[in-house]
Amino acid sequence: MTEQGKIKWGLIGASNIAKQWLAGSINKHPACDVVSVYSRDEKRASDYARELKLQSYHTSLESLLADPDVNAVYISTTNDKHREEAIAAAEAGKHILCEKPLTLSAADAEAMVEAARKAGVVLATNHHLRNMATHRAIKDIIKSGELGEITSARIGFTVDLPGDLARWRLNDPSTGAGVVLDLTVHDVDLLRYYFDADPVAVTAMGLTSGRAPHGIKDNVMSIWEFPGRLLVVCQDTFLVPFGGTAVEIHGTKGSVHGADVLWQKPQGRITVRTQAGTRDVPVDHVVPYDKTIDDFVDAVRGRGKPSADGIDGLKSLRFALAATQAMDTGRTVRF
Ligand code: NDP
Repeated sequence: MTEQGKIKWGLIGASNIAKQWLAGSINKHPACDVVSVYSRDEKRASDYARELKLQSYHTSLESLLADPDVNAVYISTTNDKHREEAIAAAEAGKHILCEKPLTLSAADAEAMVEAARKAGVVLATNHHLRNMATHRAIKDIIKSGELGEITSARIGFTVDLPGDLARWRLNDPSTGAGVVLDLTVHDVDLLRYYFDADPVAVTAMGLTSGRAPHGIKDNVMSIWEFPGRLLVVCQDTFLVPFGGTAVEIHGTKGSVHGADVLWQKPQGRITVRTQAGTRDVPVDHVVPYDKTIDDFVDAVRGRGKPSADGIDGLKSLRFALAATQAMDTGRTVRF
């Protein structure tokens, strides 16, 4: 941090998500500025820096991490690079907001958590759904007891992938492509947040469409068990352009339905159905990444925790890997 107390951010990765959402959320925070970007490609780096009006750009990770003006990094490269970048950032004493999935194996995620702990820096995972006003409202309804005992849930992360997002997600297995590491990780983080519990089992089936070469699974259904005899059915797909996304939580006394509540935009509608009838729940929508940054700053200042920390990222990854194992073997994985 500088003497003015500002947190100056370096972007690791000239990515779409950083440009579309995170750079804006970081700059909106009065204690934060995005000052630099690292890309492997000189032209991408310089174009990106110009477009975002950054003071500098770097074409090597070492040079960004040696920049004394940078005291926090946002990692949004492809998933295969997160581990090396996060560990190097921790060793350079930079606080870290890392995209999900944290990395590609549980051992690597553990190494990232340990590196941050050892360096005394914050490691946060960008699981944004738990910061959406819709999901915070759904959690409040669950916790209020209005729905009675929760017995089941349904998640439909049913989306289409525009071409720029499809580039590595459908074509490059080495990056951690496919829906499980892209969407199921978010779903499980959301349900861990709703229920304050970890799932105990998962089984899954997945298919590869004609759009995805190399056997990358772009259409996956899974069934999960949470403690307390609670079953979840989850549909994650890149093949549904018009379905809309949905979350439903069902209890013995009522159900809550969230429509268009997954993805990134602050949007969606919530309805509760009980014996008393059906009511719409008013929601003041917020950009979820703004809260990610608010909580990150508080954690850096020693006033709180990130919205989702490194352990949350490790747990969602571990679950996603178990879902993949279940899909590949046809067997239920129990934790
Ligand atoms: P992008 O494809 O936009 O960027 C990833 C990397 O690809 C960049 O670091 C860049 O490398 C390279 N790249 C970017 N554009 C091009 C191009 N035109 N040609 C060749 N290479 C290019 O990734 P996303 O923004 O979609 O995702 C990045 C990370 O963020 C992933 O981990 C993903 O899972 C996560 N994510 C999280 C979301 C959330 O809401 N939490 C939402 C979306 C993504 P270089 O930096 O070297 O230039």
